[in-house]
Amino acid sequence: MDPSPLRLPLVDSHLDLAENVTMVGRDLTLSVAAIRALEKRTANQATVSLPDLERGGVAVAFATVTAGLQTGDSSSSLVTARARTPEKAEAHALSQIGLYESWESQGRVRLLKSVVDLEHHLALWQKDGKPGLVMLMEGADPIVRARDLPKWWRRGLRMVGLTWADTRYGAGVGTGSETFRRDGLTPEGHALLNEMAESGFTWDISHLAEEGVWQGLELGFPRVCASHANARALTPTDRHLSDEVIRAVAERRGVIGIVLYNGFLEHRWEQDNSLSVTLDEHVRHHAAYLASLVGWQHVGIGSDLDGGLGLEESPQELDTVADLYRVGDVVPAEARAGVLSTNWINFLKDSLPHSA
Ligand SMILES: [Zn+2]
Repeated sequence: MDPSPLRLPLVDSHLDLAENVTMVGRDLTLSVAAIRALEKRTANQATVSLPDLERGGVAVAFATVTAGLQTGDSSSSLVTARARTPEKAEAHALSQIGLYESWESQGRVRLLKSVVDLEHHLALWQKDGKPGLVMLMEGADPIVRARDLPKWWRRGLRMVGLTWADTRYGAGVGTGSETFRRDGLTPEGHALLNEMAESGFTWDISHLAEEGVWQGLELGFPRVCASHANARALTPTDRHLSDEVIRAVAERRGVIGIVLYNGFLEHRWEQDNSLSVTLDEHVRHHAAYLASLVGWQHVGIGSDLDGGLGLEESPQELDTVADLYRVGDVVPAEARAGVLSTNWINFLKDSLPHSA
């Protein structure tokens, strides 16, 4: 008998796994069905859990580490405001890393800190299907000072985005505005990026105002990606990337993860939630647009499912993250493996250190 064929290891370059535990209070070790049954929510219903990542063949996820919410600032589920002090942000982020480490020690995930880790993981994943996590800091508030970067590196953090909302490192665009921000990096942001470049971190440009992106690119930063962002030409807010930035990321061998949030796929949906948003129409269009600018090898998926959102905010064909493979149905057959898997895998092989 032939050995069973190798499965395609799907990659999702943006999931707020820890936030759903530390801020929403979910137990992500349960199935999505069990979480829904427990929560009995009618809005913001869960779509992501570890068993569903496993069921859906998601082999690698970029798992975020964040500063957490400011108390009393839960008016919008999308608002991840700045923590009150850098030290509080640091403590929150470290607790999220602690959560990922505990999942690893329980055998639920593997933390990927190097190319050796990644290759070992992908071989094991073919047999056990456990997801591998690359830790990505979304908003650098928790990094109290640039010289702390080696400490974060030792804890396994490999990717950093400087802003969500504004941080002391730069101007953040949050969920985006039709009035584009003009400011960029602060002097501390320049210093942090220089240190990140030196110490091997990957820079995620998502949520940074465009001026800051250009300032960082002018520094010659070597490992650049957009873990979750769409094309501004299709969704006209400053949360998304101009054609020039998309080209610049691709020129640096970066990948752009398409966000599967309805409002980022169809801008009019923000005003009219009755509009139908689908993989078949909207994600097909967004993916083809990116590919028309820079080629399919720079297109990936950074779903951000459950990133302050839920089932009702996500394209119709998706019930849980286990349906991510369906994105493969809306891209050309020859681009399918790249978009679902190998574009991000190749990026990680290029950007992670060889061994931890
Ligand atoms: Zn985000």
